[in-house]
Amino acid sequence: MPLRSTRLRRRENDRTSLPSAQGVTSSPRTLVQVAVAAPLRRLFTYLVPEELPAGLQPGQLVEVPFGRGRARGVVLGPAATPEPGLELKAVDRLVEPEPVLPGPLLATLRWAADYYLVPPGEMLFAALPPLFRQVGAGSGELAVLVARVAEGVGPEALAGLAGRAPLQARLLGALVQGGPAEVARLEAELAGAREGLRALAHKGLVRLEREPRARAPVPADLPEGAGAVSPTPDQVRALAEIHAALDGGEFVTCLLHGVTGSGKTEVYLRAIARALSQDRGAVLLVPEIALTPLLTQRVTARFGAQVAVLHSGLGAGERQDEWRRLRRGQARVAVGARSAVFAPVPRLGLIIVDEEHDPSYKQSERLPYHGRDLALVRARQEGAVAVLGSATPSLESCAHARGGRYRLLRLPERVHQRPLPEIEVVDLREVLDPLERAHALSPRLAELVAATLDRGEQAILFLNRRGYSSFALCKDCGEAVRCANCSVTLTHHLQGGGLRCHYCGALQPLPERCPSCKRGRMQLFGLGTEKCEAEVRRRFPGARVLRLDSDSATGRGAVAEILGRFARGEADVLVGTQMVTKGHDIPGVTLVGVVLADLGLHLPDFRAAERTLQLLLQVAGRAGRGDRPGQVVVQTFLPQHECVVLARENRFDDFVEHELARRLALGYPPGRRLLLVRASHADPAKAAALARRLAEVLRAEGGARCQVLGPAVSPLARLRGRYRWQLLVKCPRVEDLQRVAGAALRRVSPPAGAKLLFDVDPVDML
Ligand SMILES: [Zn+2]
Ligand SMILES: [Zn+2]
Repeated sequence: MPLRSTRLRRRENDRTSLPSAQGVTSSPRTLVQVAVAAPLRRLFTYLVPEELPAGLQPGQLVEVPFGRGRARGVVLGPAATPEPGLELKAVDRLVEPEPVLPGPLLATLRWAADYYLVPPGEMLFAALPPLFRQVGAGSGELAVLVARVAEGVGPEALAGLAGRAPLQARLLGALVQGGPAEVARLEAELAGAREGLRALAHKGLVRLEREPRARAPVPADLPEGAGAVSPTPDQVRALAEIHAALDGGEFVTCLLHGVTGSGKTEVYLRAIARALSQDRGAVLLVPEIALTPLLTQRVTARFGAQVAVLHSGLGAGERQDEWRRLRRGQARVAVGARSAVFAPVPRLGLIIVDEEHDPSYKQSERLPYHGRDLALVRARQEGAVAVLGSATPSLESCAHARGGRYRLLRLPERVHQRPLPEIEVVDLREVLDPLERAHALSPRLAELVAATLDRGEQAILFLNRRGYSSFALCKDCGEAVRCANCSVTLTHHLQGGGLRCHYCGALQPLPERCPSCKRGRMQLFGLGTEKCEAEVRRRFPGARVLRLDSDSATGRGAVAEILGRFARGEADVLVGTQMVTKGHDIPGVTLVGVVLADLGLHLPDFRAAERTLQLLLQVAGRAGRGDRPGQVVVQTFLPQHECVVLARENRFDDFVEHELARRLALGYPPGRRLLLVRASHADPAKAAALARRLAEVLRAEGGARCQVLGPAVSPLARLRGRYRWQLLVKCPRVEDLQRVAGAALRRVSPPAGAKLLFDVDPVDML
């Protein structure tokens, strides 16, 4: 019985590594409560097996009999005596002797499951490498599926595939050029890679084999302090506060409100160094790791092998390696997007959330948690210091700073006394020529682009809509072509050819005749990044143009490559969506053009104005970060709109003042707490009926304290073939929200095929 002997060996390990006094006592009848990796809201009770006399500890990863099979679970602690008559099963095996979720992190995750009303097992496993969910998988030396070119197959095989099977040709090309590769990694880069590789294996061109995983190379240690610059007086003041908080060893939240280019990163780096000097670890959260290659580079340059960068391009094995380096304390600084808030850093001293206003910190679909908010919960749990940094902090954070819950640290000026860029507004209503109005560049913006190119400097053009034209309209009846699955118009793309749905991805050719009246011809209207890029190329034939949006940047490393080329000066103009607004620091950029500022203002979202102002100030902040001053042009049909006026005058604080008053008056956050309940079903009648039933229960339970709005058809009424309804609950306190939602969860049973989402503190209102 080889399995048995492994278990015994493991048991000995347990004895040596774990003080048994902390575990559950070793009686064979001892029971433990387990959160199983399944979308179920309840916890399960298991017997501790006799082979584990040391018992089981909270946070340990176990395999348990579950339903007809087995499942992975995390031990939460001792269980009370179960109901009589219930037959109990024993835990199958302990996967890892050391708890995979240390105490404070486990507590944070259990808090999060309660707060966000999500199944506890799902919440806990969201914090672990995906391999830990897999029944039967070992803990460390996991075999992975590797693809390599079969013997005797060379580049000539590619020619045979190129026309017929482009995906297979691409995969084979990658293997011929780059050598053997982990299948999971290829799949992360290229949708459908697994199937493509199977087909190649079937043809005898590729071999697929399970192999022990190659370890991710650990970065070489760099001299500590590399790249440090001397801090400005404002930075010194901010750091003094953060250092004092770190020295105090207690939970404190600092809001670092620093204008663009004021050197927030240097403050982060020095704060991390302080935490490390106290023998404590740090977590740095960024909105999207691919969009912040320079920040990541600066962190790794400063702290070398002590840094673990958790990015989406990591294969399953590499992800587990990085997790383990952190868990063991070999790496003490974790850098990553939203889910890095769960990085298993022991003795956490500091957690930084860069660009804390960024909506991507909130997960909106499955498991709707907010990375920034959980960062604060975790910091409180671990007695750590939290630093929220932004040039345009969220209204919620501004309100907390005003109320004294956060310490407000300001960096009001750019480093090296560089001026903030000047913002000029172009009123598109005054661009009278209808042809010019249809263009991306007004005469004024075109003139400035030309001047920038003449000086050999760089420009960024921002348009928050991808594709070529926005929609195709019938010249006869005026109908637009809509997606068959979603209630949105399709966007016209040249790349890939045809009309594409930006929600479900459905693609269809541009129809000859109107699908609605069957007579009219279709005409293309509106403007996307693809068309903007084409226009720049046409008007400035000598310019080198790059485009950054989710169409141009597909595959691992594509975003970093485009940004890297632009940063190295290999292009003159960068056209892109909000991806170009995030914290890049490219000294050659002296001109930023906002092609159409109005796009986000008309969205049915109470944060529309806040988002628009944040985007305008953020993108403006990309200009003039080097030695030459920057200039910004904002094109709009609404030059008198408050967002445009306040952005031009750089009056963010005034905006906060007005907007907080408005939110308070209308009963929106941060004045009140929100719960969004969304019901969807393929059958419109069932979706509506479920929404009505939810409304009944929410109103009955909410009473006078809570206001229930709806049910109403969601602004995005149909998505991927499902009809969507929603309700909004406003309460003075979050406890009320949870009580109301809990009642709805207990008392409403959705029909088969329904989806029900409870989103606490929602960010995505569509
Ligand atoms: Zn028509
Ligand atoms: Zn669609």
